[in-house]
Amino acid sequence: MQTYTPYSEAMVFSMLEHAHAAHLAWRQVPLHERTALLLKLADVLRENSESYARLMTEETGKTIRAARAEIEKCAWACEIYADKAAAWLAEEEIAADGIKHRVVIEPLGVILAVMPWNFPFWQVMRFLIPALLAGNGALLKHATNVTGSALKIQEAVNEAGFPKGLFVTLLVSHTVVEQVIAHPLCQGVSLTGSAEAGRAVASVAGRHLKKVVLELGGSDPFIVLGDADIPAAAKAAVIGRFQNNGQSCIAAKRLIVLKEIEEVFTSTLLAEVEKLVVGDPLDEATDIGPLVSEQAAETMEQFVLDAVAKGAMVRTGGTRKGAYFTPTVLTGVHSAMEVMTQEVFGPVLPVITADTVEEAITLANATRFGLGASVWSRDLEKGEQVARQLAAGATFVNSITKSDPRMPFGGIRESGLGRELSYWGVREFANIKTVNVY
Ligand code: NDP
Repeated sequence: MQTYTPYSEAMVFSMLEHAHAAHLAWRQVPLHERTALLLKLADVLRENSESYARLMTEETGKTIRAARAEIEKCAWACEIYADKAAAWLAEEEIAADGIKHRVVIEPLGVILAVMPWNFPFWQVMRFLIPALLAGNGALLKHATNVTGSALKIQEAVNEAGFPKGLFVTLLVSHTVVEQVIAHPLCQGVSLTGSAEAGRAVASVAGRHLKKVVLELGGSDPFIVLGDADIPAAAKAAVIGRFQNNGQSCIAAKRLIVLKEIEEVFTSTLLAEVEKLVVGDPLDEATDIGPLVSEQAAETMEQFVLDAVAKGAMVRTGGTRKGAYFTPTVLTGVHSAMEVMTQEVFGPVLPVITADTVEEAITLANATRFGLGASVWSRDLEKGEQVARQLAAGATFVNSITKSDPRMPFGGIRESGLGRELSYWGVREFANIKTVNVY
């Protein structure tokens, strides 16, 4: 594994000062010039897709197909923001008691991003595109195991032609992260990661009264109602749970199925899971590669052991070899098992049954998380009614939970604070300023 030397504190603070200076000039750049650079960034990402994808696969174990799709999604997000920028940053006129009242969107300054390894490019771009578009500068502290990707992202932004120093990757420890947040030139922090990291970083930000956005973990329910299209729901559940080797914040982490279809649904689901090809993530045929570390696979083993000790049955999978963990389905699951109370960040799918739709909703909402939720029914009205009762930031009928640059994304409860993407994302790190003329 490649090793990197952490940056000295002096270097980090000089980078922060440069980013601030670059932002002061950047905020004056006309919007059409900013969007032209976003489109250039989309080109750079696509031109280098193969090498970036390979690097992500090597650093995280994600499959090469998933890694390519991730780069394409980043390029698409650049295009969406370039296309919508004028509308999403438009001034708003309000009729009040003066001659003129306007709401204008101004940048805040330099924002620190603290990001996770599971989607090394996408998580960063999801924050960075709207932040830069709004006129901010940005610093990135990426997860230590994806430092290569972090440096490539900086290279891509530079190659696209963004002003030098406006966005930089920092190779720093948690202690230096605290010092950056405390610095007067840092105006906010966006963290995507676990609830524990969110708590730690938000408490530092709180002490220094800095704006914070948190995109944290989840334990999303995937509810299959009695009238669902069973083959479609089973196929989707497999994608929802096992994509990115099961390591996605919005994975379908708790499958809740109505008792009346439990048997037929479970057998269809098991047949789909057993089709998954486990192997070398660089192999085009592979669906499931190794987890990010052997320790992550050991954690899956512990979850399965806990569930089995409390009465669950392993219907498929359940075995570990190094960092590999076979795609696993557990039935006979109940609420006291860790697979129901913790975030299961790997390829283990617990299936729980509900006697009624109301019970399914209660089970779905019985979690400290609230990121996404998916419900399956042929009756779209009923599906929507259920979706509206689910405690989550993003709910889907007849689709897996997914993020889309045109839609806001974020969680409630321990899944986070604030929103990314769409125009909501642009406004998080902005001064929503009023100009009033009397
Ligand atoms: P971690 O919480 O371990 O790390 C996330 C980032 O936070 C890393 O850069 C890490 O740095 C940093 N970090 C952790 N603790 C601190 C601290 N005390 N001070 C400063 N920085 C800190 O998460 P993972 O990387 O393991 O990612 C998995 C988690 O991310 C899951 O819970 C997943 O659900 C969540 N996630 C949420 C998403 C969402 O949109 N809601 C999307 C994707 C993932 P270092 O590597 O140096 O420790």
